[in-house]
Amino acid sequence: MRNSVFSLLFICLFLQNYAQQMDRVRRVIDTLASPTMAGRGASGEGDKIAASFIADQMAEIGLLTHQDSYFQYFYYNINTFPSEPKLRVGQKNLRAGYDFIPDAGLPVVHRKWKQHFLDSSTAADSVRLRQFLKKASPNKALVFHEDYRKKLLLKNPGNLQQLDRYGAQIILRKQKLTLGLSDRQEFQPVFDVLASEWKDTKSAIRADANPSLMMQYQSANLAGYFRGTEVPDSIILLSAHYDHLGRMGDSIYFPGANDNASGLSMMLELARYFKENPPRYSIWFIAFGAEEAGLIGSKYFTEHPLFPLSSVRFMINLDLMSAGEEGMMAVNGTIFTKEFSLLENLNKEMNALSSIRKRGKAANSDHYYFTEKGVPAFFFYTLGGGTAYHDVHDKASALTLSRYPEVYKLLLAFIRRLQGS
Ligand SMILES: [Zn+2]
Repeated sequence: MRNSVFSLLFICLFLQNYAQQMDRVRRVIDTLASPTMAGRGASGEGDKIAASFIADQMAEIGLLTHQDSYFQYFYYNINTFPSEPKLRVGQKNLRAGYDFIPDAGLPVVHRKWKQHFLDSSTAADSVRLRQFLKKASPNKALVFHEDYRKKLLLKNPGNLQQLDRYGAQIILRKQKLTLGLSDRQEFQPVFDVLASEWKDTKSAIRADANPSLMMQYQSANLAGYFRGTEVPDSIILLSAHYDHLGRMGDSIYFPGANDNASGLSMMLELARYFKENPPRYSIWFIAFGAEEAGLIGSKYFTEHPLFPLSSVRFMINLDLMSAGEEGMMAVNGTIFTKEFSLLENLNKEMNALSSIRKRGKAANSDHYYFTEKGVPAFFFYTLGGGTAYHDVHDKASALTLSRYPEVYKLLLAFIRRLQGS
């Protein structure tokens, strides 16, 4: 009888802890992906609001600072959209973010062009295509399906030159629109449009946009740590970028819930655990800025490290942590085979995720410049979930977080084993 009372109590406590943790995680993700944070980019300075929120979280958890501050500042150039770009074909106004997305390097533009629409039969015939492209002029906008770019246009250097003679390019995308970031403004305006929204292949096209190239924009990495109780000179490094793509005007923003409010929340949860359970090795927690602009913050950190990079026993970078229904990917898993086996074995023992997959080196998140400097690292991203990525649909409400507790427990076990506890 007493045993069953104890186990019931234990289950109740466990469920209560679990519910508390998921409430907290939801709150952090909701906050970072909210309109107040404006997509955590340079436009609207949402990245700065996010950074101060994270610093407050770090302070509340009790992470130690390096020289009295969590902030490590750096500067970079970035093209931004303080006002909403407009694009119209005939009488149809396309919706920014939903029907079209400007190229990241869009210059200031206020112009009308004739539409020069490339149809499939012209694209399929190289002689006709050449004739077609000879009619290129600055008064025309070339409109073409993304398939033709790959198959024909880019293979022929002569054709490529002709492309530059157009006043603008409209690329019709089959599946989805994906925004990037750029540190410059290009000469020619380029827009990506959902193919399903481009029915009028004859009418004139009008674009109005006032992007602003911000020079030497200030951003920051946020770093805090717990000192190891037994081997303080050995470091485990946990990281997650907090920035995202920002906004276009006042009403359209890129929430970046999965990318990467989810990873940031996971890093904070792990920090909470190690506050209560002091680690054997020192553990550093770094929220990197300006990842989306080209791994700017993490590269800066590797050039201005707050500790010797040679002390890092292992780095774990978290980016896209909200799914896991189809397991998890370890970038660099094929390189650090010993650590990968450890992870796989833990996953089996704990029956945590359906599979852990591995791939080689990739410059696709903040671990990259650390790996290049000889720091052993995994970059984990979860598999499964929705298709929203670098678009207006990556919202907090779209995340199920159904495997979040399993991912958390697996990461925790992995970190504990890395430091021999
Ligand atoms: Zn990301």
